[in-house]
Amino acid sequence: MAHVLPPLPYPNNALEPHIDAKTMEIHHDKHHGTYVTKLNEAIDKHPELKSKSVEELLSGINSLPDDIRNAVRNHGGGHLNHALFWQYMTPFGGGEPQGKLAQVMTKTFGGFARFKEEFEAAAQNRSGSGWAWLSVRSTGDLEIGSTANQETPLSNGHLPILALDVWEHAYYLKYQNKRPDYVGAFWNVINWDEVGRRFKAAK
Ligand code: MN
Repeated sequence: MAHVLPPLPYPNNALEPHIDAKTMEIHHDKHHGTYVTKLNEAIDKHPELKSKSVEELLSGINSLPDDIRNAVRNHGGGHLNHALFWQYMTPFGGGEPQGKLAQVMTKTFGGFARFKEEFEAAAQNRSGSGWAWLSVRSTGDLEIGSTANQETPLSNGHLPILALDVWEHAYYLKYQNKRPDYVGAFWNVINWDEVGRRFKAAK
């Protein structure tokens, strides 16, 4: 089974004005599309891995054959990270999480405002290309972090429930060098229902 590019769950222009339609089109169709193509090219060299999901491949990254490990890290990571990222956003997003996630966030970070500050710092301080994350550790605790390039917390045994792409391709057309403005705009489109659902499923 080849890996496939999932369609965006909303039209290209749905997240305007926070994330522009042209960026969404290129980001999804070209960038994400290329990660899927290159992941499939890598897996073609090891047909025994064709039955594995991208999550399984990345969770077991260290046991993959040497000749494709980096390709799976980069292109498999690129595929999974983007597939998640699209779902973490919605045109009906923004606001704050509710229920259990909100309670645990308060206990862990001291409230939503503090969480927001820490997550923004993770996104701003990741130099070069990468991602900011909110993940659930195997202990059930929430953790904010960032990864370089297309690495995923999944490879460290953490389950990602929210992510922000801070590669320049994610924001350059609209925000140019102003990453903080893009990071600030992200709060208007976060799909907290989806993040809450993933938090529940992680436990
Ligand atoms: Mn990207």
